[in-house]
Formats: sequence, C-alpha cells, structure tokens
Amino acid sequence: AIDFKSIKADLEAVERNCKVRNSRANPRRAVELYEEYVRVKLEADTLRADRNNNSSRMKGKLEKEERDKLIAAGQQLKEALGKAEEQVALVEQAMQVEGQRIPNSTHPEVPLGGEENATLLASVGEQRVFEGFQPADHVKLAESLKMVDFDAAAEVTGQKFYYLCNAGALLELALVSWAMARVGAKGYTPFTTPDIVKASVLEKCGFQPRGTNTQVYSIEDSPLCLTGTAEVPLAGLYMDKVLQESELPIRMAAFGHCFRTEAGAAGAAGKGLFRVHQFSKVEMFILCAPSQSDALHEELRVIGQEMYTDLGLHFKVLDMPSEDLGASAHRKFDMEAWMPGLNRYGEISSASNCTDYQVMECRICMTCLDVQSEEGASQGKKQKGGKKGSGGGGAGARTEFVHTLNSTACAVPRIIVAILENFQQADGSVIVPQQLRPFLGGMEVIRAP
Ligand code: AMP
Repeated sequence: AIDFKSIKADLEAVERNCKVRNSRANPRRAVELYEEYVRVKLEADTLRADRNNNSSRMKGKLEKEERDKLIAAGQQLKEALGKAEEQVALVEQAMQVEGQRIPNSTHPEVPLGGEENATLLASVGEQRVFEGFQPADHVKLAESLKMVDFDAAAEVTGQKFYYLCNAGALLELALVSWAMARVGAKGYTPFTTPDIVKASVLEKCGFQPRGTNTQVYSIEDSPLCLTGTAEVPLAGLYMDKVLQESELPIRMAAFGHCFRTEAGAAGAAGKGLFRVHQFSKVEMFILCAPSQSDALHEELRVIGQEMYTDLGLHFKVLDMPSEDLGASAHRKFDMEAWMPGLNRYGEISSASNCTDYQVMECRICMTCLDVQSEEGASQGKKQKGGKKGSGGGGAGARTEFVHTLNSTACAVPRIIVAILENFQQADGSVIVPQQLRPFLGGMEVIRAP
C-alpha cells in the first residue's frame, strides 16, 4: 500500500530524494497516474452506483414500457462499468509499477554521492605484511589445498558454482555454526529457513523476481523462486501480522542458501569464490518499533565488527553513500575486508535499516497503547518521509508499520576468501582462526590432505 497521497503532498522532497540516490524513479509520473486512478475510480464507482440504483428500480411493479427502458439502461450501464473497471485496473497497475520504483527516504547522516564518498566509520587491524613470499590468491590456495573443485562444478552445474571439499566443506559448516552461536548469544532467535519462496513474497519484500535483469532464479511453470537471502523467509514469517509494541524488537538469525543470477555483474567467467551464484549465509533480521531502528542498526554494526575482529581480519566499516543504498535502505553500513591475494578490499557484510519501506507491502504492523493517541497517529504519518503512510488508530491505541533491519553475520564464501588469503603461510598451508577451531575438531592449520 504505497501512500500516493503523501507522495503527492511532498512531491518536491520525494523528487530531491530520488535525485540524491541517483534513482530512475519518476515520482511526478507516479502522482499523475495516481490522479488519473482517482478520476477513473470515481467514474467506475459512479457507474456502479447508477447500475445498482437502476436494478433496485426494477424490483417494483412496472409498466412494460418503463421496464424495457430500465432494462436497456441497465445493459448500457453494465457495458460502461465493465470498460471503466478495465481502465481502473490498467491505471492502477501502471501506478503501482511507478510507485514501487520510488526509493526509501534517506537518513540525514548518509553521505551524498557515489561509492567513493562513503564515510569511514572505523578501520580495524592492519594490512598484513608478508615476509619472504608473495601472497597467493584464494583460488590457487584452495585448489592446492584440495578445498574446492571449480572444474567439476562447471561441468555439473555451470560457471560460478563450486564444490567445497575436505577442509573447505568443514570450514563452511564451522563458519555457519560459529556465526549462529555468536548471534544466538546476542539474543537472536536461530532459524533455518526455506530456500524456495513464492514470487509474491519476494515482491512484497522489495525484490523483483521477474524481468530480464532480475537477480532471482524462478522455477519454471510455478509461482516459486529461489531466494537470494534468508531475510525474505524471515520477513515472510510475520507477513500481515499486527504485533504488540511490547513484543518488539524481534531479533532473528537464519542460516540459508542464497541464489543470485548476478545479472550485470562483471567478471562472470572467472574462477573463484568471491562472486558466485549460490552461497551459504547467516543473516540477522530485526522487526522493531520506529523509535528503536537507529539504535538497533548500531547494534548490528557492533555485532559484525566484533565477529570479524575476533576472526583476526583487517576491515573497514563504511557508512554507504546515497547512490549506493539501493531502493530499500534508509541507511547502510558495509564492512570490507582486506584480501591480500586479490590485492583489494572486498565487501564481507552489509547492514541496512530499511525503516518501514519493506513492511508497507508485506504489511507488518504494531499497535501501541498511546495516551495521546490522536496526536500520535497524525505524527506517525508525517514522519514517513513522504513515501507511504501508516494505518489509523483506535481510541487509546494506534497502529503503525514496524521497521525492519537486516545484516550479514557470515557470508561464507567471502569469509573463506579472507581467511585463506590473510592467514596463508609460505608453504601454502593456512592457519585456522582461533575462533573456528572448536568447530573444526581443534584443527589449527589447513594442509593438503
Ligand atoms: P547482500 O544480501 O546483498 O547485502 O549481501 C550480503 C553479503 O553476501 C555481502 O556483503 C557479501 O559478503 C555476500 N555476497 C553477496 N553476493 C554474493 C555473491 N554473489 N557471491 C558470494 N558472496 C556474496
């Protein structure tokens, strides 16, 4: 339920926001379509009322001439109403498509511009100096340690798939168990989630499951898709639910597989684990009251920072700039780890505060008892940043959309890249981070089997 009324009322601000986010959305066009929708809907409603009126007039005793007149009028009204309803459906669909392109509002502290304008919030550790040898990249290391098989995966499935084997397979499971244990200890309820979801649920969560450039794999002749992140089934758990404010925040963490077409991504043919079509990920997801989301975004940042520090990685924490936020994030913190074999920093995690952008479509609300209910309800609506509005309230209580946040706890292949490249030794073996050893039966060093 996009609040086109708010967009219309705040059109200039919404346009400014689209501009700073370099979004191709056209809110002016969305408002035009909304106005047309209101007009054609009114026409259809009037025709419907006329037809009903005409039908009720036929119920009484009538002269034949009078009845024939009403029958003819009824026929005309039926045809006109059919056409008007078709028009309403067409305009409504165009309005929704245009409305869905409009991005979330932008947090005032978000730096403006492209990737190069990200604000450095923290830098943890330092680039390792390799004495006496040149660091190899993770592909060379993993292949010589027999941890991966890219060639077999290319035969069996295709490019950008991989088998993990030996210490590679164990490392994946260890990373998942470690990450789930870490976030579980922080109060995030652990889940394993379905990897296949309905296209309609993906759409409600702000993803585009269909179309030429989609990141989503669909299952032919079915309404189902492979999910790109466990955030979708986690949000789906609460779809169309009304929560009590006292239940919030709800903190969850899920292990799931992510499937991504990576349409448009560079380097589609190269070997490696950095960008692949399928990977395991532990994802944190939060539903909260609007007043809690900034603090919880900070909580997600701190958890990620602690986890990657404890793995011994060198990484930067970035407040991502406006043009890098996508459509749903109001603010996004990325972490980029140093990958010495690749000789660059690579993104290992991303934490987004999506405010109420995602839940507008999947309709997750909260009711809160409010002594100043009337005042509260109208304030809630104004604070939406112009895109969509909240539900109404009753006496002493009001209903508002919740906020959602998501953050990567562990995107397995990227962390494997960082571990192999940072902790390699001159003989090609790799030191296992202390944190992971209990999950690997005490293994301290990865050597070729
Ligand atoms: P996202 O859900 O897009 O925010 O991605 C979360 C994390 O997953 C990123 O920070 C990366 O570490 C990792 N990631 C994203 N896409 C891929 C991919 N195609 N292959 C491997 N890892 C990925």
